[in-house]
Amino acid sequence: MENCLFCKIAEKKLSAEIVYEDEDIVAFKDINPQAPIHILIIPRKHISSLNEINEEDIPILGKTQLVAKELAKKFGIDTQGYRLVLNTNFGAGQSIYHIHYHLLGGRFLKWPPG
Ligand code: 5GP
Ligand code: ZN
Repeated sequence: MENCLFCKIAEKKLSAEIVYEDEDIVAFKDINPQAPIHILIIPRKHISSLNEINEEDIPILGKTQLVAKELAKKFGIDTQGYRLVLNTNFGAGQSIYHIHYHLLGGRFLKWPPG
């Protein structure tokens, strides 16, 4: 997808601190971290938001969560706990329209979120 920031990061046309990648998924550090660990996990496939997923995306979204689990362990936040967030549309604060999970941890995370 042209002019999509996260597609460009996935294609390495824009730099980011990539912490994991495979044929389906890329994960990189958030440029404006909201916690000591703040990683964005995206499918390489351009999907604008959760509103646009369909049945063929089930495997890739499932894999995204497996990657989140592995990164939580790698970054040492699996025991204390972490949060996986997927903002959808403006009312939830989505600012980049390429679906992404935020993996947040390394501090106590309040609930409910703001
Ligand atoms: P959203 O608000 O859409 O749920 O999350 C978008 C996230 O992308 C934000 O946390 C923001 O800090 C992050 N972000 C925006 N632009 C860039 C960038 O160029 N590089 C990286 N690594 N993160 C970005
Ligand atoms: Zn994209």
